[in-house]
Amino acid sequence: MVRDNAPLLTGRRFESVVLTHADVLTGVSARALTTGLRGARVLGLSRRAKNAVIATDRRRLVIQPGMTGAMFVKRKPTPDDLKYGVLRILLDDRRTFIYHDVRRLGRIRWLDDAGYRRFSNAIGPEPLDPGFTPEALGRALGRSRAAVKKVLMDQKALAGVGNIYANEALFFAGVDPSRAARALTPENHRQLHHHLVRILTQAVRASGTTIRDYRTGRGEPGNFQLELMVYGREGEPCRHCGASLAGTHAIDARITVFCYRCQT
Ligand SMILES: [Zn+2]
Repeated sequence: MVRDNAPLLTGRRFESVVLTHADVLTGVSARALTTGLRGARVLGLSRRAKNAVIATDRRRLVIQPGMTGAMFVKRKPTPDDLKYGVLRILLDDRRTFIYHDVRRLGRIRWLDDAGYRRFSNAIGPEPLDPGFTPEALGRALGRSRAAVKKVLMDQKALAGVGNIYANEALFFAGVDPSRAARALTPENHRQLHHHLVRILTQAVRASGTTIRDYRTGRGEPGNFQLELMVYGREGEPCRHCGASLAGTHAIDARITVFCYRCQT
């Protein structure tokens, strides 16, 4: 989303702003957001964990799209965009930036420098940063007795790893998702680090994973779902050993799919 939107938004000025629902806002009122955005100029886009960060010459517009959010820049919004476009901003080139969210599970923040620092400092390291090593992964998993899959998905421990990629990385690393995070060996850290970085890199290259709702910044589905080994394959044969893949909601209330034979 960030890569697709960055060239279309960078350097643009926000002219008029429509916010249809305030329930997506966190820490800012509808009035403060719309007043603040009007007239602001976009300096650039980046990503932190699962958030798109739109830096302006005033504050940062931080959008967490959640399960059903998407963002586009369009010449002409469709009726669907008008219905579900929670935040619509007319740009100075007459295009419109649309944050579209059918179920409004996403979050929008409007943060000054100190607020952004606090927000970012509360999130764990980025797995795709060059400084992220197997040892850093070991530190992120720490002394926790919680299941390793739960800790991997905890944004305070590690940034940006959601359910799909946690399931996939644990499969390739041969680690039982229910194992206590602190019980992993340095070899487990090495394997898990290698596969997390590899899977995230390939998934980004494939424009993400679309099971149902996710769309890229061009409004298209991602392609990484074509390469999934375990997620969404409960009851199907393991692609490594042929055993029937197991599924459980017991670890973190989300679906965990794993091979009891390959992940010991
Ligand atoms: Zn297997």
